[in-house]
This record gives sequence, structure tokens and C-alpha cells, in this order.
Amino acid sequence: MGKLLVVGSMAFDTVRTPFGEATEVLGGSATYFATAASFFTSVDLIAVVGEDFPEHHLDFLRSRGIDLTGLERRSGKTFRWRGEYTYQLNEAHTLETQLNVLETFRPTIPDQYRAPDMLFLGNIDPELQLEVLNHVHRPRVVACDTMNFWIDGKREALWRVLEQVDVLIINDGEARALGQDANLVKVAKDTLARGPKHLIIKRGEYGVLMFNEKRVFGAPAFPLEMVKDPTGAGDTFAGGFMGHLAATGDLSDANLRQATIFGSVMASFTVEAFSLDRLRTLTFHDIQNRFREFKRLTHFEDVS
Ligand code: AMP
Repeated sequence: MGKLLVVGSMAFDTVRTPFGEATEVLGGSATYFATAASFFTSVDLIAVVGEDFPEHHLDFLRSRGIDLTGLERRSGKTFRWRGEYTYQLNEAHTLETQLNVLETFRPTIPDQYRAPDMLFLGNIDPELQLEVLNHVHRPRVVACDTMNFWIDGKREALWRVLEQVDVLIINDGEARALGQDANLVKVAKDTLARGPKHLIIKRGEYGVLMFNEKRVFGAPAFPLEMVKDPTGAGDTFAGGFMGHLAATGDLSDANLRQATIFGSVMASFTVEAFSLDRLRTLTFHDIQNRFREFKRLTHFEDVS
């Protein structure tokens, strides 16, 4: 089983959706990613929190077997994100971003983290993503996420990251902003020509598309009766995807497709509740069952 390293944010999120709201709840790209991936493999985490971050959140991550040696606690306040979703649940509207301790964060990488099999660069400042990338032995797979905040604000640094990335996992709005084109197929072609070998575009309730130079694979989102809070869907998708790759060590096309479905399964559970609440009670058995439901959902016969 390959070691998986993640760098990203740990946060207090304040979120409003048409179905309720949650104030200062556990969130952050690294938190969601690591928790989802921990169902598949062991995860090492690099992030920063402030003095205000309660120990019980860390106890939860430890209970999932996540290694927190690389978690720094600094004086100051934890990163905070405030967002809102309308009935169009696919798009988060950021109301406020308080970087706080993330503003001056310089990741230090514990010696035992320096040779990860796989690395996930979660959504943080691309300069920090680069710093981590440059201080580990080249992993077999480097995957990366980002968001408009960085695409607009740190485009050049972001491209320096993407040149070294194997899998870029972003949503459709971010893909259009990055590629500066409305057509996702064209954006995929242009992006793949500049670095990433695979581009996964998440399209919320419409599912995902995975592009590489030769092929495109599409999977729907799981049809859910109740979506309460889409926050973390992207990161838990990435956690399921990378977790499965790290657990199997298999980079074949068939396995990348399976990883895409595991990612979709993890995202579908996450959105059923606010924060990471659904993941707290989830079992691997639940994950396998929903994976099989996905298989049935998309199965059809060939023409005779
Ligand atoms: P997603 O999976 O895309 O819904 O990511 C949601 C998480 O990203 C939330 O828990 C936020 O705390 C975190 N987040 C939002 N904005 C930023 C940012 N600018 N930098 C790092 N993390 C962020």
C-alpha cells in the first residue's frame, strides 16, 4: 500500500445552503481530502492551524489513522472560509476568505514524509504547492486541485505547478477560467498540452469527465434525493480517487476509471450532510455498496 501525502488547508467554514447553515464547522481542502482517502490508504498531512483549533478535530483525524506529524500549530487564527450556495448547488459563492495563519505559512516537510508514493496538492497558494513539490522525492503520481481565487490571483505560479503535475482535478468553472475558453474539450486539449497527463473536470450534479491525450471517460454523479451541502465534494472526490490509486498502485486506464468512480462515491456521501459529518459514520462497506450502485446506474448493452 503506497504512502499518500497531502498538503492543503484546514479551516473553519461558515456555509449557507438552501437547506440550512453551519457556522465555524470543520473544513479545509486537506481535511476533506485526508478523511476521504483514509478509507483506502494511510495518509500523511501537511497543513497549518491556529491556536483556536480544537483538539477534538485533531482527535477525529487521528482516529482515521491520518498522520499529523506535518501539521503545524501557529500563534494566530485558523484559516476561515465563508460561502453560500443557491439552488444552483454546483457553484460556491465565496463571501469571505480569511487566510490568517495560512498567509505566512511555509510548509516544513518531516523527514519521514519525503518519499511519498503519491502526492496531492490541495487547494492552497500555488507557491506553497510548489514548495512542497520541490522538497519531496518525485512521487509516482502528483495530483493537484485549485480554485478561481488562485487562477485569477496567481496564474503564473499555478502554471509552474501544473507543468509538474500528473493529474489536475478541477471543476468546470475553474477549467474554463484556467483555459480561458468556454468549451471544455478544447480546454482539456490545451491544458494537457502544457503538463498534466490527465485532467478531471468535475461538473457537480452532472458528474465528471476524465481526459487524457487519447481518451475521455465520463461518469455521472450519483442521483441523490437530498444534497445538503456541496462543500468538500471536490476534495473528497480527489481523496477517493487518489486513495484508490495509492491503495492499488495500479495506474492502468481501467484502474483510473475505477478511481474516478470511488471519487464520485466519496463526493456523493459528503454532500449528504454539512461539514464532514457524513464521513464520520461512513464504513468501507457503504462505499463498496454505492460503488456497485454506480455500476448498475451506468451499465448498458452494446448494439447487436
Ligand atoms: P471544495 O471541495 O472545492 O468544496 O472545497 C471546499 C474547502 O475549500 C472548504 O472547506 C474551504 O475551507 C476550502 N477553501 C476555500 N477557499 C480556500 C482557499 N482560498 N484556500 C484554501 N482552501 C480554501
